[in-house]
Amino acid sequence: QEPFPTDYDIAQSAEMEPIWELVEPWGLGLEDLQYFGEYTAKVKHHAIERLREESTEKSQNLVLVTGMTPTPKGEGKTVTTVGLGQTLNHIGKETMIAIREPSLGPVFGVKGGAAGGGKSQVLPMEDINLHFTGDIHALTAAHNLIAAMLDAKISQGNELDIDVTNVAWPRAIDMNDRALRQTVVGLGGKTGGTPREDSFLLTAASELMAVLCLASDLADLKERIGRIIVAYDEDGNAVTVDDIEATGPATMLLRDAIKPNVVQTIEGTPAFVHGGPFANIAHGTNSLIADKTAFGMGEYLVTEAGFGSDLGAEKFMNVVCRMGEMTPNAVVLVASIRALKYHGLDQWPVDYDAIDDAGVDAVEAGFSNLDKHVRNLQKFGVPVVVSINRFPEDTDEEVQAVLDHCTNELGIRAAESNVFLEGSEGGVDLAENVVDAVEESDEEAFEPLYDLEAPIDEKIRTIATEIYGADDVKFTGKALSDIEQMNDLGFDDYPVIMSKTFHSLSDDASLKGAPEGWELEISEIYPSAGAGFLVALTADALTMPGLPARPAAADMDIDADGNITGLF
Ligand code: ADP
Ligand code: MG
Repeated sequence: QEPFPTDYDIAQSAEMEPIWELVEPWGLGLEDLQYFGEYTAKVKHHAIERLREESTEKSQNLVLVTGMTPTPKGEGKTVTTVGLGQTLNHIGKETMIAIREPSLGPVFGVKGGAAGGGKSQVLPMEDINLHFTGDIHALTAAHNLIAAMLDAKISQGNELDIDVTNVAWPRAIDMNDRALRQTVVGLGGKTGGTPREDSFLLTAASELMAVLCLASDLADLKERIGRIIVAYDEDGNAVTVDDIEATGPATMLLRDAIKPNVVQTIEGTPAFVHGGPFANIAHGTNSLIADKTAFGMGEYLVTEAGFGSDLGAEKFMNVVCRMGEMTPNAVVLVASIRALKYHGLDQWPVDYDAIDDAGVDAVEAGFSNLDKHVRNLQKFGVPVVVSINRFPEDTDEEVQAVLDHCTNELGIRAAESNVFLEGSEGGVDLAENVVDAVEESDEEAFEPLYDLEAPIDEKIRTIATEIYGADDVKFTGKALSDIEQMNDLGFDDYPVIMSKTFHSLSDDASLKGAPEGWELEISEIYPSAGAGFLVALTADALTMPGLPARPAAADMDIDADGNITGLF
């Protein structure tokens, strides 16, 4: 048997259409676009406005793709999102796709590229994975401009009386670099600034990223940036970006980044790739601007929420849909045989390396994780379709066992998906199930899980017990005094973004399946006043990941002709 070609080889052999020709039938003309080469464009403000006005109820069939708790390699949500979008077009539904733009950290770390895979990719994949249109770099620059202006204020007289032990704006970089997690800045004597502890976070975790993804337009972006809290003064009052006079220049740096990027899939489906917050340390979905623009272009929109239902999907339902006034019509839950086996490992002790040969019993041992994600999603009143993303090593018996479990025990729709190997030919069963789910969905039934008016600790407890399966919440460190401070600042009616490991439904990365009999530990709560939510930190979450012993980057290369290898 011939080895299946790499993602890069498949991408290279795909025929692309110039982007202006591709999107013309979808309502975007030549003057509506700002071009980055032949195959990538940004949509200009006037066109976003026009499409937003043109979108109707009928054109707002929103399908969210999420997944069970993944293995470190990813279970195929992006592949499924792209493949489902292609297949819906193939069966006659005009469908747009919206996904996040890849961060360099994971590309060079464990996961590799994030532009889909096989015959379900967005193109040009090497551009999308590497810098793309520069949005993330612009965010890094804007973030660090604010940091520099803040430190200048502190060291040049500190007229705002900023408490150097209470600075809330770290620095940002788009690289997994654990050495930057905790740093000291301001060294070098009198001219080196004011010495203080500092830290770096990943650009994807910057509040600016969240703000960019939630803003409705440039004016709203500017207003939100102005509200961001960067420090506290000696009396404990918030110091904002407005206070340090950084709102204008930071927004200016983002003037292109706010415009959604449109590209195409291997089969010529238009796709927005815009904004890239992670779902474990931020809200985890592409920009609302991209979603709203897409609503004006097709009848269906397929979008991806990062990690499992406990992270991206929970945040999409409770925060993004609430802020964007959107209603999901169906959720696709991506499951893989390898993840099911992984979650059954403690009950069915096999070596992780021998996972391929472990058989149906090992798959069944992992159902507890899949089932919990299904029950979580059902709580929002949206129909769920399980998609089994078929990998080459999976057997028919294993796949059938999952299909039977979904039909007989869970009573929900399920389909095998072969969109990685076959493109839309391999997604028809899935797409038909999704159309049925959307057509039977009742938008009135959709409901966020908590009221914004509920006390902060109760909102956190609801997510912990209902979604993560915790018995209760334990507030440690200064978490309780943080809550009091949030109430004093008037942020008590904000939704909560939990920062939690993606390796487990619980806050302990080593626990598989659906852990029971544990308490969620919350160590800190801080406001993202520009985004309009609170962030609650749990035990194991990191806003600056590190690289593994042998990063994916070590296998990447480029030759004298510009051919790339290792960017899978
Ligand atoms: P997620 O979005 O859930 O993190 P991705 O869709 O990015 O996952 O897929 C993770 C990795 O697995 C990618 O490198 C992708 O190409 C690969 N992959 C996904 N589905 C399949 C499949 N069915 N067969 C082989 N490789 C796959
Ligand atoms: Mg993905």
